[in-house]
Amino acid sequence: MRRLNSIAIYCGSNTGKGDTYLRAADALGRHLAKSGIGIIYGGTHKGLMGALADAALAEGGMVHGVITERLRDKGHLHERLSRHEILPTMKERKHRMMELAHAFIALPGGIGTLEEFMEVWTLNQLGEFDKPAGLFNVEGYYEPFMGFIDHMISQSFLPAAHRNSIVLASDPVALLDGLVNFRKVDVPKWM
Ligand code: AMP
Repeated sequence: MRRLNSIAIYCGSNTGKGDTYLRAADALGRHLAKSGIGIIYGGTHKGLMGALADAALAEGGMVHGVITERLRDKGHLHERLSRHEILPTMKERKHRMMELAHAFIALPGGIGTLEEFMEVWTLNQLGEFDKPAGLFNVEGYYEPFMGFIDHMISQSFLPAAHRNSIVLASDPVALLDGLVNFRKVDVPKWM
């Protein structure tokens, strides 16, 4: 079992359609806080990111925001975080989040969310670190994405075993269990 004291969460800076994704962000924030796991995230009050932070704070959780100067200057910083850091660029911000976190979760989101998740999946694949990454598959949001992963596998760009080198779960309890019990996939990347 892995000891995960803090998890970086990537998620939409929009809320998505309806309130399905907002409820999922709220549930994840509360579950992490109740489990005594600190949240590292992008530091804004906007979208799912803000809902996640508010939910964890409401349960007495530790929420550490890492935001860029540019986004802070636009007024995006959440004002009530346990801790925040302001870094000059997105590149530095992403690096800092990776350094602080013991694992990663992506909730539904847009290209920013996907980009961050793909980077940590790739760094695990290349062996730069061993920090499990999971997708919170709210209402099947990530099914089309996993379909594309299957296409990579069928076209021999990705070993089939690497489909299991991330955790995919549709509820916060299963997702956290999957990360805590995650075993590294040792199948080589190159076929
Ligand atoms: P997106 O999924 O395109 O909405 O982008 C969300 C991801 O990009 C988040 O996980 C953040 O790391 C980053 N991001 C985008 N917008 C913001 C914002 N206003 N404040 C902080 N981070 C942001």
